[in-house]
Amino acid sequence: MNKTIILLLSIFSSISCKTSGIEILVENGVLIQNAQIISPENQTVSTDSFVAVDGDEIVYVGEERPNLKGSFTTIDAKGKYIIPGLIDSHVHVTGTDALSDEEELQNPEIVKSFREQLPKSYLYFGYTTLIDLGTAKPERLVDFQKAEIRPDLFYVGGGAVIGNGYGLSNWNDEIPNFIYQESKAYPIPEKFIKENHSPKAVAKRIARSGAIALKTYYEPGFDPTQPRFPTPSEALMEEMKTEAHKNNLVLVVHGNSLEAHQFLGKAKVDIVAHGLWNWANHRLDSTNAVPEEIKQALDVEIENKVGYMPTLQVINGLRELTDSDYLNNTELENVLPKNLIEYYKANSDVMYASVFGDAPKNIISNNFNRISNQGKINLKYMFDHGGHILFGTDTPSSPTFGNPPGYNGYLEMLEMEKAGVPLSKILAMATIENAKAFNLDQFYGTVESGKKANLLILNKNPLQDITAYNDIEQVIINGIPLDRKTFSAQKGTE
Ligand SMILES: [Zn+2]
Repeated sequence: MNKTIILLLSIFSSISCKTSGIEILVENGVLIQNAQIISPENQTVSTDSFVAVDGDEIVYVGEERPNLKGSFTTIDAKGKYIIPGLIDSHVHVTGTDALSDEEELQNPEIVKSFREQLPKSYLYFGYTTLIDLGTAKPERLVDFQKAEIRPDLFYVGGGAVIGNGYGLSNWNDEIPNFIYQESKAYPIPEKFIKENHSPKAVAKRIARSGAIALKTYYEPGFDPTQPRFPTPSEALMEEMKTEAHKNNLVLVVHGNSLEAHQFLGKAKVDIVAHGLWNWANHRLDSTNAVPEEIKQALDVEIENKVGYMPTLQVINGLRELTDSDYLNNTELENVLPKNLIEYYKANSDVMYASVFGDAPKNIISNNFNRISNQGKINLKYMFDHGGHILFGTDTPSSPTFGNPPGYNGYLEMLEMEKAGVPLSKILAMATIENAKAFNLDQFYGTVESGKKANLLILNKNPLQDITAYNDIEQVIINGIPLDRKTFSAQKGTE
Protein backbone atom coordinates (compact mmCIF):
# COMPACT_ATOMS: atom_id res chain seq x y z
CA MET A 1 0.00 0.00 0.00
CA ASN A 2 1.47 3.40 -0.87
CA LYS A 3 1.58 6.35 1.45
CA THR A 4 -1.14 8.34 -0.35
CA ILE A 5 -3.65 5.54 0.06
CA ILE A 6 -2.77 5.10 3.74
CA LEU A 7 -3.18 8.87 4.20
CA LEU A 8 -6.53 8.88 2.39
CA LEU A 9 -7.73 5.91 4.39
CA SER A 10 -6.74 7.49 7.66
CA ILE A 11 -8.47 10.78 6.73
CA PHE A 12 -11.52 8.79 5.74
CA SER A 13 -11.53 6.79 8.93
CA SER A 14 -11.05 9.83 11.11
CA ILE A 15 -13.94 11.56 9.36
CA SER A 16 -16.13 8.51 9.72
CA CYS A 17 -15.17 8.24 13.40
CA LYS A 18 -16.19 11.79 14.10
CA THR A 19 -19.59 11.22 12.62
CA SER A 20 -20.35 7.71 13.72
CA GLY A 21 -18.12 7.23 16.78
CA ILE A 22 -19.15 4.77 19.43
CA GLU A 23 -20.30 6.71 22.44
CA ILE A 24 -19.06 5.54 25.83
CA LEU A 25 -19.88 7.23 29.10
CA VAL A 26 -16.93 7.16 31.48
CA GLU A 27 -16.50 8.40 35.03
CA ASN A 28 -12.78 8.06 35.39
CA GLY A 29 -11.44 7.09 32.01
CA VAL A 30 -8.29 6.70 30.02
CA LEU A 31 -8.17 6.69 26.24
CA ILE A 32 -5.08 5.21 24.61
CA GLN A 33 -4.83 6.20 20.97
CA ASN A 34 -2.72 5.16 17.97
CA ALA A 35 -1.81 1.98 19.82
CA GLN A 36 -0.26 -1.18 18.44
CA ILE A 37 -2.04 -3.84 20.46
CA ILE A 38 -0.45 -7.27 20.68
CA SER A 39 -2.65 -10.30 21.14
CA PRO A 40 -0.78 -12.92 23.20
CA GLU A 41 -3.17 -15.57 21.89
CA ASN A 42 -2.46 -15.30 18.19
CA GLN A 43 0.52 -12.91 18.11
CA THR A 44 -1.26 -10.41 15.87
CA VAL A 45 -0.48 -6.72 16.14
CA SER A 46 -3.38 -4.39 15.43
CA THR A 47 -2.15 -0.95 14.46
CA ASP A 48 -3.70 2.49 14.99
CA SER A 49 -6.08 1.10 17.56
CA PHE A 50 -7.82 2.50 20.60
CA VAL A 51 -8.19 1.21 24.12
CA ALA A 52 -10.66 2.86 26.49
CA VAL A 53 -10.59 2.24 30.21
CA ASP A 54 -13.08 3.26 32.86
CA GLY A 55 -12.18 2.76 36.49
CA ASP A 56 -10.27 -0.52 36.64
CA GLU A 57 -11.93 -2.07 33.59
CA ILE A 58 -11.18 -2.09 29.87
CA VAL A 59 -14.40 -0.86 28.25
CA TYR A 60 -13.42 -0.68 24.59
CA VAL A 61 -10.79 -2.05 22.21
CA GLY A 62 -11.05 -1.35 18.49
CA GLU A 63 -9.86 0.41 15.39
CA GLU A 64 -12.51 3.11 15.47
CA ARG A 65 -12.03 6.03 17.80
CA PRO A 66 -14.67 5.81 20.52
CA ASN A 67 -16.43 8.98 21.56
CA LEU A 68 -15.78 9.18 25.28
CA LYS A 69 -18.15 11.31 27.34
CA GLY A 70 -17.19 12.26 30.84
CA SER A 71 -13.88 12.66 32.58
CA PHE A 72 -10.88 11.00 30.95
CA THR A 73 -7.23 11.47 30.07
CA THR A 74 -5.70 10.64 26.69
CA ILE A 75 -2.43 8.81 26.09
CA ASP A 76 -0.90 8.94 22.65
CA ALA A 77 0.80 5.56 22.15
CA LYS A 78 2.10 6.23 18.65
CA GLY A 79 5.02 3.92 17.91
CA LYS A 80 4.45 1.99 21.13
CA TYR A 81 3.07 -1.44 21.91
CA ILE A 82 0.27 -2.41 24.29
CA ILE A 83 0.26 -5.78 26.00
CA PRO A 84 -1.66 -7.12 28.99
CA GLY A 85 0.10 -6.79 32.34
CA LEU A 86 2.37 -9.75 33.07
CA ILE A 87 1.48 -12.58 35.46
CA ASP A 88 4.11 -14.31 37.58
CA SER A 89 2.42 -17.43 38.86
CA HIS A 90 5.06 -18.44 41.39
CA VAL A 91 6.17 -15.87 43.94
CA HIS A 92 6.34 -15.56 47.71
CA VAL A 93 5.66 -11.96 48.69
CA THR A 94 6.51 -12.61 52.30
CA GLY A 95 9.60 -11.81 54.26
CA THR A 96 12.57 -9.67 53.30
CA ASP A 97 14.52 -11.51 50.63
CA ALA A 98 17.13 -13.74 52.22
CA LEU A 99 16.84 -12.23 55.71
CA SER A 100 16.06 -14.59 58.58
CA ASP A 101 13.43 -13.72 61.20
CA GLU A 102 16.24 -12.77 63.54
CA GLU A 103 17.94 -10.50 61.00
CA GLU A 104 14.61 -8.83 60.32
CA LEU A 105 14.22 -8.04 64.02
CA GLN A 106 17.70 -6.54 64.08
CA ASN A 107 17.14 -4.42 60.96
CA PRO A 108 13.67 -2.85 61.14
CA GLU A 109 14.62 0.01 58.78
CA ILE A 110 15.63 -2.40 56.02
CA VAL A 111 12.46 -4.44 56.50
CA LYS A 112 10.34 -1.29 56.30
CA SER A 113 11.96 0.00 53.11
CA PHE A 114 11.87 -3.44 51.48
CA ARG A 115 8.15 -3.90 52.18
CA GLU A 116 7.38 -0.46 50.79
CA GLN A 117 9.38 -1.16 47.66
CA LEU A 118 8.25 -4.76 47.04
CA PRO A 119 4.96 -4.09 45.16
CA LYS A 120 6.64 -1.35 43.13
CA SER A 121 9.51 -3.60 42.08
CA TYR A 122 7.09 -6.04 40.50
CA LEU A 123 5.30 -3.19 38.72
CA TYR A 124 8.63 -1.72 37.55
CA PHE A 125 9.10 -4.88 35.48
CA GLY A 126 5.47 -5.04 34.36
CA TYR A 127 4.17 -7.74 36.73
CA THR A 128 0.65 -6.58 37.50
CA THR A 129 -0.64 -9.96 38.75
CA LEU A 130 1.12 -12.26 41.19
CA ILE A 131 0.25 -15.68 42.55
CA ASP A 132 1.77 -16.40 45.94
CA LEU A 133 2.42 -20.13 46.09
CA GLY A 134 2.64 -20.63 49.80
CA THR A 135 3.56 -18.85 52.96
CA ALA A 136 4.10 -19.76 56.58
CA LYS A 137 3.04 -16.21 57.51
CA PRO A 138 -0.33 -15.36 55.94
CA GLU A 139 -0.37 -11.98 57.71
CA ARG A 140 2.34 -10.86 55.27
CA LEU A 141 -0.12 -11.31 52.41
CA VAL A 142 -2.38 -8.87 54.20
CA ASP A 143 0.54 -6.44 54.57
CA PHE A 144 1.20 -6.60 50.83
CA GLN A 145 -2.48 -5.93 50.08
CA LYS A 146 -2.34 -2.71 52.11
CA ALA A 147 -0.18 -0.88 49.57
CA GLU A 148 -2.25 1.59 47.60
CA ILE A 149 -0.59 0.85 44.26
CA ARG A 150 0.35 -2.81 43.91
CA PRO A 151 -0.06 -5.81 41.64
CA ASP A 152 -3.22 -7.90 42.04
CA LEU A 153 -2.33 -10.72 44.39
CA PHE A 154 -3.76 -14.24 44.40
CA TYR A 155 -2.61 -16.92 46.80
CA VAL A 156 -2.74 -20.48 47.98
CA GLY A 157 -2.53 -19.43 51.62
CA GLY A 158 -0.66 -21.81 53.88
CA GLY A 159 0.78 -24.73 51.94
CA ALA A 160 -0.79 -28.19 52.37
CA VAL A 161 2.47 -29.75 53.58
CA ILE A 162 2.57 -33.51 54.01
CA GLY A 163 2.67 -34.36 57.73
CA ASN A 164 6.27 -34.28 58.91
CA GLY A 165 7.37 -33.84 55.31
CA TYR A 166 9.38 -31.13 53.58
CA GLY A 167 8.60 -27.83 55.29
CA LEU A 168 7.35 -29.51 58.47
CA SER A 169 10.25 -31.63 59.67
CA ASN A 170 9.77 -32.94 63.17
CA TRP A 171 6.58 -30.94 63.55
CA ASN A 172 8.71 -27.95 64.38
CA ASP A 173 6.58 -25.40 62.64
CA GLU A 174 3.01 -24.42 63.10
CA ILE A 175 1.58 -25.22 59.68
CA PRO A 176 -2.20 -25.09 60.01
CA ASN A 177 -2.93 -26.85 56.72
CA PHE A 178 -0.61 -29.85 56.91
CA ILE A 179 -2.05 -33.09 55.57
CA TYR A 180 -2.01 -36.15 57.75
CA GLN A 181 -0.67 -39.34 56.21
CA GLU A 182 -0.90 -42.59 58.18
CA SER A 183 2.60 -43.87 58.83
CA LYS A 184 4.19 -45.80 61.67
CA ALA A 185 7.39 -43.87 61.15
CA TYR A 186 5.71 -40.49 61.56
CA PRO A 187 2.90 -40.67 64.10
CA ILE A 188 0.91 -37.47 64.38
CA PRO A 189 1.51 -35.66 67.70
CA GLU A 190 -1.49 -35.83 70.01
CA LYS A 191 -2.11 -32.08 70.02
CA PHE A 192 -3.41 -32.29 66.43
CA ILE A 193 -6.90 -33.58 65.62
CA LYS A 194 -6.53 -36.01 62.74
CA GLU A 195 -9.87 -35.13 61.12
CA ASN A 196 -8.80 -31.49 60.74
CA HIS A 197 -5.91 -32.58 58.55
CA SER A 198 -7.58 -34.78 55.96
CA PRO A 199 -7.44 -33.60 52.31
CA LYS A 200 -11.16 -32.88 52.57
CA ALA A 201 -10.87 -30.63 55.64
CA VAL A 202 -7.73 -28.90 54.35
CA ALA A 203 -9.11 -28.19 50.85
CA LYS A 204 -12.27 -26.71 52.35
CA ARG A 205 -10.30 -24.51 54.74
CA ILE A 206 -7.98 -23.33 51.98
CA ALA A 207 -10.90 -22.49 49.67
CA ARG A 208 -12.66 -20.60 52.45
CA SER A 209 -9.56 -18.45 52.98
CA GLY A 210 -10.02 -17.05 49.46
CA ALA A 211 -7.21 -19.08 47.91
CA ILE A 212 -7.31 -20.06 44.22
CA ALA A 213 -5.13 -23.17 44.45
CA LEU A 214 -4.03 -25.91 46.79
CA LYS A 215 -0.26 -26.22 47.01
CA THR A 216 1.30 -29.41 48.21
CA TYR A 217 4.78 -30.92 48.04
CA TYR A 218 6.60 -33.94 46.68
CA GLU A 219 10.05 -33.49 48.16
CA PRO A 220 12.07 -36.45 49.46
CA GLY A 221 14.89 -34.03 50.38
CA PHE A 222 17.89 -32.39 48.75
CA ASP A 223 20.63 -34.23 50.58
CA PRO A 224 20.87 -37.95 49.75
CA THR A 225 22.99 -38.58 52.86
CA GLN A 226 20.04 -37.57 55.08
CA PRO A 227 16.90 -39.66 55.77
CA ARG A 228 14.06 -39.11 53.28
CA PHE A 229 11.20 -36.77 54.02
CA PRO A 230 7.85 -38.50 53.76
CA THR A 231 6.12 -37.90 50.40
CA PRO A 232 2.45 -38.38 49.51
CA SER A 233 1.25 -41.82 48.37
CA GLU A 234 -0.56 -42.18 45.03
CA ALA A 235 -3.86 -42.61 46.87
CA LEU A 236 -3.29 -39.49 48.99
CA MET A 237 -2.37 -37.41 45.93
CA GLU A 238 -5.50 -38.60 44.14
CA GLU A 239 -7.61 -37.65 47.15
CA MET A 240 -5.99 -34.20 47.31
CA LYS A 241 -6.74 -33.67 43.62
CA THR A 242 -10.38 -34.69 44.05
CA GLU A 243 -10.87 -32.44 47.07
CA ALA A 244 -9.04 -29.52 45.44
CA HIS A 245 -11.22 -29.72 42.34
CA LYS A 246 -14.41 -30.08 44.40
CA ASN A 247 -13.50 -26.73 45.94
CA ASN A 248 -12.54 -25.11 42.60
CA LEU A 249 -8.89 -25.08 43.56
CA VAL A 250 -6.06 -25.75 41.12
CA LEU A 251 -3.72 -28.48 42.40
CA VAL A 252 -0.14 -27.17 42.36
CA VAL A 253 2.66 -29.42 43.55
CA HIS A 254 6.25 -28.62 44.39
CA GLY A 255 8.72 -31.03 42.79
CA ASN A 256 12.00 -30.66 40.90
CA SER A 257 13.60 -34.11 40.95
CA LEU A 258 13.26 -36.93 38.44
CA GLU A 259 11.39 -38.98 41.05
CA ALA A 260 8.97 -36.13 41.76
CA HIS A 261 8.25 -35.44 38.08
CA GLN A 262 7.75 -39.15 37.38
CA PHE A 263 5.27 -39.37 40.23
CA LEU A 264 3.43 -36.10 39.50
CA GLY A 265 3.14 -36.69 35.76
CA LYS A 266 1.55 -40.06 36.38
CA ALA A 267 -0.70 -38.58 39.08
CA LYS A 268 -1.95 -36.02 36.49
CA VAL A 269 -1.71 -33.12 38.91
CA ASP A 270 -2.67 -29.75 37.42
CA ILE A 271 0.69 -28.01 37.77
CA VAL A 272 4.21 -28.92 38.89
CA ALA A 273 5.68 -25.76 40.39
CA HIS A 274 9.26 -26.38 39.22
CA GLY A 275 11.18 -27.63 36.25
CA LEU A 276 12.95 -30.98 36.27
CA TRP A 277 16.51 -29.82 36.76
CA ASN A 278 17.55 -32.44 39.29
CA TRP A 279 18.49 -35.35 37.02
CA ALA A 280 19.25 -37.92 39.76
CA ASN A 281 22.07 -40.17 38.45
CA HIS A 282 22.19 -38.48 35.06
CA ARG A 283 24.38 -35.53 34.18
CA LEU A 284 24.34 -33.18 31.28
CA ASP A 285 27.32 -33.92 29.04
CA SER A 286 28.82 -32.20 26.01
CA THR A 287 26.23 -33.75 23.66
CA ASN A 288 23.53 -31.66 25.40
CA ALA A 289 21.12 -34.59 25.00
CA VAL A 290 18.20 -35.20 27.35
CA PRO A 291 18.73 -38.68 28.90
CA GLU A 292 16.12 -41.28 27.97
CA GLU A 293 14.77 -41.66 31.51
CA ILE A 294 14.27 -37.87 31.83
CA LYS A 295 12.57 -37.77 28.42
CA GLN A 296 10.12 -40.45 29.53
CA ALA A 297 9.15 -38.45 32.63
CA LEU A 298 8.63 -35.31 30.51
CA ASP A 299 6.67 -37.26 27.90
CA VAL A 300 4.19 -38.44 30.55
CA GLU A 301 3.72 -34.83 31.73
CA ILE A 302 3.21 -33.69 28.14
CA GLU A 303 0.75 -36.51 27.45
CA ASN A 304 -1.21 -35.75 30.65
CA LYS A 305 -1.14 -31.98 30.00
CA VAL A 306 0.47 -31.27 33.34
CA GLY A 307 1.46 -27.61 33.77
CA TYR A 308 5.25 -27.19 33.97
CA MET A 309 6.90 -24.13 35.55
CA PRO A 310 10.58 -24.13 34.54
CA THR A 311 11.57 -21.69 37.39
CA LEU A 312 15.07 -21.43 35.92
CA GLN A 313 15.95 -18.59 38.25
CA VAL A 314 15.88 -20.86 41.31
CA ILE A 315 19.19 -22.37 40.29
CA ASN A 316 20.63 -19.17 38.85
CA GLY A 317 19.65 -17.25 41.99
CA LEU A 318 21.59 -19.66 44.16
CA ARG A 319 24.55 -19.53 41.79
CA GLU A 320 24.70 -15.74 42.22
CA LEU A 321 25.86 -16.30 45.81
CA THR A 322 29.19 -17.36 44.28
CA ASP A 323 29.55 -14.10 42.34
CA SER A 324 30.83 -11.20 44.40
CA ASP A 325 30.26 -8.82 41.49
CA TYR A 326 26.54 -9.57 41.19
CA LEU A 327 25.60 -6.94 43.79
CA ASN A 328 27.18 -4.20 41.66
CA ASN A 329 24.57 -4.74 38.92
CA THR A 330 22.95 -1.30 38.61
CA GLU A 331 19.59 -2.88 37.71
CA LEU A 332 19.27 -3.94 41.37
CA GLU A 333 19.06 -0.27 42.36
CA ASN A 334 15.65 -0.10 40.68
CA VAL A 335 14.13 -2.96 42.65
CA LEU A 336 15.92 -3.10 46.00
CA PRO A 337 16.26 -0.35 48.60
CA LYS A 338 19.80 0.98 48.96
CA ASN A 339 20.09 -0.13 52.59
CA LEU A 340 19.29 -3.73 51.63
CA ILE A 341 21.89 -3.76 48.83
CA GLU A 342 24.43 -2.44 51.35
CA TYR A 343 23.41 -5.13 53.82
CA TYR A 344 23.85 -7.85 51.17
CA LYS A 345 27.28 -6.48 50.23
CA ALA A 346 28.40 -6.51 53.85
CA ASN A 347 27.09 -10.05 54.42
CA SER A 348 27.59 -11.83 51.10
CA ASP A 349 30.25 -14.21 52.44
CA VAL A 350 28.11 -15.15 55.44
CA MET A 351 25.15 -15.73 53.12
CA TYR A 352 27.24 -17.95 50.87
CA ALA A 353 28.51 -19.98 53.83
CA SER A 354 25.05 -20.44 55.30
CA VAL A 355 23.91 -22.13 52.08
CA PHE A 356 27.08 -23.82 50.78
CA GLY A 357 29.27 -24.13 53.89
CA ASP A 358 32.95 -24.14 52.98
CA ALA A 359 32.53 -25.62 49.49
CA PRO A 360 34.80 -23.80 47.01
CA LYS A 361 32.92 -21.17 45.03
CA ASN A 362 34.20 -22.29 41.63
CA ILE A 363 32.92 -25.85 42.16
CA ILE A 364 29.48 -24.62 43.25
CA SER A 365 29.39 -22.19 40.35
CA ASN A 366 30.24 -24.92 37.80
CA ASN A 367 27.71 -27.33 39.28
CA PHE A 368 24.95 -24.79 39.29
CA ASN A 369 25.71 -23.77 35.73
CA ARG A 370 25.31 -27.41 34.70
CA ILE A 371 22.05 -27.79 36.65
CA SER A 372 20.78 -24.53 35.14
CA ASN A 373 21.55 -25.89 31.67
CA GLN A 374 19.74 -29.14 32.50
CA GLY A 375 16.70 -27.00 33.33
CA LYS A 376 17.00 -25.10 30.04
CA ILE A 377 17.44 -28.20 27.93
CA ASN A 378 14.35 -29.75 29.51
CA LEU A 379 12.40 -26.54 28.90
CA LYS A 380 13.32 -26.70 25.22
CA TYR A 381 12.25 -30.36 25.09
CA MET A 382 8.91 -29.47 26.68
CA PHE A 383 8.43 -26.65 24.17
CA ASP A 384 9.40 -28.75 21.14
CA HIS A 385 6.95 -31.49 22.15
CA GLY A 386 3.96 -29.34 22.97
CA GLY A 387 4.29 -29.30 26.76
CA HIS A 388 2.06 -27.07 28.88
CA ILE A 389 4.69 -24.57 30.04
CA LEU A 390 3.74 -21.82 32.49
CA PHE A 391 5.61 -18.72 33.56
CA GLY A 392 6.64 -18.65 37.22
CA THR A 393 9.87 -17.53 38.84
CA ASP A 394 9.68 -18.69 42.47
CA THR A 395 10.78 -15.28 43.75
CA PRO A 396 12.50 -15.60 46.20
CA SER A 397 13.20 -19.31 46.18
CA SER A 398 15.92 -19.53 48.82
CA PRO A 399 18.01 -17.36 51.14
CA THR A 400 19.81 -15.56 48.33
CA PHE A 401 20.02 -12.03 46.94
CA GLY A 402 19.89 -13.63 43.48
CA ASN A 403 16.09 -13.50 43.10
CA PRO A 404 15.34 -9.75 43.26
CA PRO A 405 11.59 -9.00 42.99
CA GLY A 406 10.40 -7.98 39.52
CA TYR A 407 13.88 -8.13 37.97
CA ASN A 408 13.87 -11.89 38.58
CA GLY A 409 10.95 -12.19 36.16
CA TYR A 410 12.89 -10.35 33.48
CA LEU A 411 15.90 -12.61 34.11
CA GLU A 412 13.66 -15.68 33.83
CA MET A 413 12.45 -14.43 30.45
CA LEU A 414 16.04 -13.90 29.24
CA GLU A 415 16.84 -17.47 30.30
CA MET A 416 13.78 -18.84 28.50
CA GLU A 417 14.87 -17.09 25.32
CA LYS A 418 18.37 -18.52 25.78
CA ALA A 419 16.80 -21.97 26.13
CA GLY A 420 15.26 -21.53 22.68
CA VAL A 421 11.67 -20.62 23.53
CA PRO A 422 10.26 -18.16 20.94
CA LEU A 423 9.27 -14.67 22.07
CA SER A 424 5.64 -15.23 21.11
CA LYS A 425 5.49 -18.20 23.48
CA ILE A 426 7.14 -16.27 26.32
CA LEU A 427 4.50 -13.54 26.01
CA ALA A 428 1.65 -16.05 25.91
CA MET A 429 2.93 -17.97 28.95
CA ALA A 430 3.37 -14.84 31.06
CA THR A 431 -0.14 -13.63 30.21
CA ILE A 432 -3.03 -15.66 28.83
CA GLU A 433 -1.66 -19.14 29.50
CA ASN A 434 -0.97 -18.37 33.15
CA ALA A 435 -4.42 -16.78 33.42
CA LYS A 436 -6.08 -19.87 31.96
CA ALA A 437 -4.11 -22.31 34.11
CA PHE A 438 -5.30 -20.56 37.28
CA ASN A 439 -8.86 -19.89 36.05
CA LEU A 440 -8.23 -16.15 35.94
CA ASP A 441 -8.78 -15.63 32.20
CA GLN A 442 -12.17 -14.03 32.59
CA PHE A 443 -10.39 -10.90 33.84
CA TYR A 444 -6.72 -11.33 32.98
CA GLY A 445 -4.35 -12.26 30.21
CA THR A 446 -5.45 -10.29 27.11
CA VAL A 447 -6.29 -6.75 26.05
CA GLU A 448 -10.05 -7.10 25.69
CA SER A 449 -13.18 -5.28 26.71
CA GLY A 450 -14.45 -6.50 30.09
CA LYS A 451 -11.01 -7.41 31.40
CA LYS A 452 -9.06 -5.76 34.17
CA ALA A 453 -7.30 -2.56 33.08
CA ASN A 454 -3.79 -3.84 33.84
CA LEU A 455 -1.77 -2.94 30.77
CA LEU A 456 1.78 -2.21 29.72
CA ILE A 457 2.86 0.38 27.18
CA LEU A 458 6.19 -0.77 25.75
CA ASN A 459 8.68 1.15 23.63
CA LYS A 460 9.68 -1.97 21.68
CA ASN A 461 7.86 -4.94 20.21
CA PRO A 462 8.17 -7.90 22.64
CA LEU A 463 7.56 -10.31 19.75
CA GLN A 464 10.81 -9.08 18.20
CA ASP A 465 13.01 -8.13 21.13
CA ILE A 466 13.08 -9.61 24.64
CA THR A 467 14.52 -6.36 26.01
CA ALA A 468 11.09 -4.78 25.38
CA TYR A 469 10.21 -6.06 28.86
CA ASN A 470 12.89 -3.80 30.27
CA ASP A 471 11.78 -0.86 28.14
CA ILE A 472 8.38 -0.14 29.63
CA GLU A 473 7.06 3.38 29.14
CA GLN A 474 4.00 3.17 31.36
CA VAL A 475 2.26 0.64 33.55
CA ILE A 476 -1.50 0.91 33.80
CA ILE A 477 -2.50 -0.71 37.06
CA ASN A 478 -6.18 -0.94 38.00
CA GLY A 479 -6.86 1.69 35.35
CA ILE A 480 -4.25 4.14 36.66
CA PRO A 481 -1.48 4.99 34.17
CA LEU A 482 1.89 5.54 35.84
CA ASP A 483 5.35 6.16 34.41
CA ARG A 484 7.60 3.20 34.99
CA LYS A 485 10.20 5.32 36.73
CA THR A 486 7.80 6.13 39.58
CA PHE A 487 8.23 2.52 40.72
CA SER A 488 12.02 2.57 40.83
CA ALA A 489 13.67 2.21 44.24
CA GLN A 490 15.99 5.02 43.14
CA LYS A 491 13.12 7.45 43.23
CA GLY A 492 13.49 9.71 46.21
CA THR A 493 17.18 8.97 46.55
CA GLU A 494 18.08 10.82 43.34
ZN1 LIG B 1 8.14 -21.46 45.74
